Amino acid sequence: MNDTVLAVNGIEVIYDRVILVLKGVSLQVREGGVAALLGGNGAGKTTALRAISNLLRGERGEVTKGSIELRGERIDDLSPAQLVQRGVVQVMEGRHCFAHLTIEENLLAGAYTRKRSGEIAANLDKVYTYFPRLKTRRASQAAYTSGGEQQMCAIGRALMANPSLVLLDEPSMGLAPQIVEEVFEIVKDLNAKERVTFLLAEQNIQMALRYADHGYILENGRVVMNGPAPELAGNEDVKEFYLGMG
Ligand code: ATP
Repeated sequence: MNDTVLAVNGIEVIYDRVILVLKGVSLQVREGGVAALLGGNGAGKTTALRAISNLLRGERGEVTKGSIELRGERIDDLSPAQLVQRGVVQVMEGRHCFAHLTIEENLLAGAYTRKRSGEIAANLDKVYTYFPRLKTRRASQAAYTSGGEQQMCAIGRALMANPSLVLLDEPSMGLAPQIVEEVFEIVKDLNAKERVTFLLAEQNIQMALRYADHGYILENGRVVMNGPAPELAGNEDVKEFYLGMG
């Protein structure tokens, strides 16, 4: 498929040299799409995203089999910073805003790879049009903003690097349902209007399937099912085993 932006081919991940966590995971993300990696606690979603953005080493993890390609080129050996330069940015689970910095300072920190101040200012304006709440809270210290605002700040900060592919880890975590909905609506808008491609990891399968176009269900380190989101949402096994969780 030539519209595949990201291809993960049979990756195996081992932590601490012995703990096999991903047991041959393959997935593809279509250019301009929203793909969802779905599954319960400990299924391996975060590990898969970390493998893609080469963030496993700090966790004593290692990809021991398989390959990862961005638009047909191997990216397995690129550092997280090199990946950012190629347009791949990860938004970590748990949001990770700099608590003592203001929302605006957090956003500007996301533009660290960029040099032209005019472009950075234009990008900041763009982030504020998608996240009006962040504009209102621009001068507030992140520590004093709500969980939803911090999640928005983390996504906004990723956008400041001008990515073409955003890996979004568990955006719904710890948020009230209407805030989750607000965050997903913004993701949908960014995808439609800015053509940002998303791969999101979610435990909230029901919500994710409403916004994604393709889903991969991960269980115990293996993809056990995948398909177009409406097909998965209507599948009897998915309904019985997964919907209602999260
Ligand atoms: P969650 O929603 O809880 O983050 P997840 O689907 O993202 O779940 P992972 O965090 O990828 O799952 O974890 C998959 C498995 O790998 C779990 O059994 C977890 O205990 C294990 N694991 C994760 N990180 C490490 C680590 N640094 N060292 C050892 N084992 C780990």
